[in-house]
Amino acid sequence: MPAPQCASCGQARAALRRPRSGQALCSECFCAAFEAEVLHTVETGRLLPRGAVVAVGASGGKDSTVLAHVLRELAPRLGITLHLVAVDEGIGGYRDAALTAVRHQAEVWGLPLTIVAYSDLFGGWTMDAVARSTAGTGRSRACCTFCGVLRRRALEEGARLVGATHIVTGHNADDMAETVLMNFLRGDAGRLARGGVLGSRGEGGALPRCRPLQLASQKEVVLFAHFRRLHYFSDECVYAPEAFRAHARRLLKALEAARPSAVLDLVHSAERLALAPAACPPPPTACTRCGALASRPLCQACALLDGLNRGRPRLAIGKGRRGLDEEEPQNQAKVQPEPQAQNQAPAQSQPGLAASLAQLTF
Ligand code: SF4
Ligand code: ZN
Repeated sequence: MPAPQCASCGQARAALRRPRSGQALCSECFCAAFEAEVLHTVETGRLLPRGAVVAVGASGGKDSTVLAHVLRELAPRLGITLHLVAVDEGIGGYRDAALTAVRHQAEVWGLPLTIVAYSDLFGGWTMDAVARSTAGTGRSRACCTFCGVLRRRALEEGARLVGATHIVTGHNADDMAETVLMNFLRGDAGRLARGGVLGSRGEGGALPRCRPLQLASQKEVVLFAHFRRLHYFSDECVYAPEAFRAHARRLLKALEAARPSAVLDLVHSAERLALAPAACPPPPTACTRCGALASRPLCQACALLDGLNRGRPRLAIGKGRRGLDEEEPQNQAKVQPEPQAQNQAPAQSQPGLAASLAQLTF
């Protein structure tokens, strides 16, 4: 069956059907609509004021690649300047290849790039060292929980280093919906109530952060990268299969198959959630070690590093019932990063995403 006419310009043949609306568009009209929607998110949410120096968290993956590309297009209109900040977590055979992709992108876009490494910021700790330290403790499945805390801190440090006033990250609607599901499944009401907003204003001296792609579906992010011929790195991190997020992702896919609007519905639900006054935690104070916001004497990053340095990796996140991460220590498989080729060329789409792309394009 020949592709229909583009529903927007009525001139070119449609190249895809938008996953949510079913609208058939040519590639140019789709990319223009995608960029206009990101602009709308930024403007209506007042996420990035004119004159902002924006640190873009760049991982080399599809989301941050599309975000940087779109913001670069929108920068003159928004009156912002961009600086790529990449974090080297120290994951052998994975991050090295992803950083090669980031360097390539920075060169193509002509954007400044700064790379900050866990090992420099956190007293020699890399994620590989954290994984070794947590192996056998029942916490080896929690690498992403540890990594998320450290990465947030590293991105903040990198952004300050380059004089940024704001931080943006590439989280898309699917990422956000997974996070909502995870917080539900963990019974973490505090994070659930905070998790829906498009960004944080920067309490306690932290830089304001936002997620301009929060309302864009993962499929459309992939389609945009495809039609704009953006090269990105798509190998999965060696620790990702261990993450609790993988369960939430599978659950979300099943929900989406039954109800295509499930992803956005979850994101919007979280936007409207608020904690009952009686359930509100006491206001955060300053970490006694580094001064960052903390709900206990030490902030999460300092508590994690403290535990690692004492050979007792612990991390207080969430409800505090178990006082550690919320990953159940079942079927403990020791994390064994597989060595991969270094300096790998930017990879193509993941098989699952490539399959959805094939279903959506004509
Ligand atoms: Fe860190 Fe987990 Fe992401 Fe790997 S998958 S980079 S361990 S958060
Ligand atoms: Zn601290």
